[in-house]
Amino acid sequence: MYDLLIIGAGPAGLTAGLYAGRARLKALILEKLTCGGQILLTETVENYPGFPGGISSSDLMGNIEEQVMKLGVKILEEEVRQIEKIGIFWRIKTRENQYDAKAVVIAAGSLPKTLEVEGEKHLTGKGVSYCATCDGPLYRNKIVAVVGGGDTAAEEVLFLTRFAAKIFLIHRRSQLRAAEILAQRLKDNIKVKPIWNAQVLAILGNERVEGLVIKDVNSGNEETILCDGVFIYVGRAPDTGFLGNLIKLDEHGHIITDEAMRTDEPGIFAAGDCRKKTFRQVITACSDGAVALYSAQQYLEGLK
Ligand code: NAP
Repeated sequence: MYDLLIIGAGPAGLTAGLYAGRARLKALILEKLTCGGQILLTETVENYPGFPGGISSSDLMGNIEEQVMKLGVKILEEEVRQIEKIGIFWRIKTRENQYDAKAVVIAAGSLPKTLEVEGEKHLTGKGVSYCATCDGPLYRNKIVAVVGGGDTAAEEVLFLTRFAAKIFLIHRRSQLRAAEILAQRLKDNIKVKPIWNAQVLAILGNERVEGLVIKDVNSGNEETILCDGVFIYVGRAPDTGFLGNLIKLDEHGHIITDEAMRTDEPGIFAAGDCRKKTFRQVITACSDGAVALYSAQQYLEGLK
């Protein structure tokens, strides 16, 4: 029986693990993909305090992972399929195993949203990508399009300027949602060609991406753009499908918590991007993880 099981090893889950280790709890972290979380899809983190020159996401997350493991908290690569209530404990089932814990912190993060347009599914991996850090180097001297207007789209366009000859930035409005410092860098880069007020109607190509059909949302005019790759950054959805009806979620699937990261089910806490909140950053995820652990510790004390 574990005191605490943490689902997800991104910034929120690892920070919860760090605090669990310091509290000498018997804790286990389960991660279905790579330890470090979605931030690893970004090359450099520029807004984590203490690193005036920025820090690579793999260094930042690698350091946190090392800090957690030094405290004796185990991290296993297993995907959680279901959580069941057994009296006052929780049974966490993965494909391979099941674990019992007195309390659970859900820090499962989020998944990229898809555009849901013709050609997207069939060309994924054949020019349609959701990860510039992974696939950007394949587009040296090629033409690519990035869809979206948030921080992720802006950062990934800037990353792609290292490889691609030209990057179309296609956004459905005339103003980016991304931070001003990123927006300014995009304006200053001659490789970046913004296409404002445009909606993607279809991604073209048989074996590989050959282009896009876009529509001007004001005039209704349609246009075909030729490109070799399409990177889609239209937001993220919480990865909470495995929870079923266990705890209260909002209409988008985000976990509803109070300020102390408590869900409506005593003993279950949530932290990071999978939680309903206003600002999703590495630092706010870490903060959630620390608060969740503080609350979980209080809960565990109450069980004694
Ligand atoms: P986001 O902020 O939700 O932005 C999504 C973008 O996609 C918006 O510009 C949105 O347009 C557009 N969009 C949504 N649905 C669309 C559709 N169906 N068709 C076309 N465009 C669509 O998502 P994100 O950029 O992935 O960022 C997620 C969170 O992580 C944010 O809180 C962000 O601040 C944070 N983040 C922070 C950093 C950083 O601080 N370094 C880096 C990456 C991400 P509208 O603008 O019209 O809504």
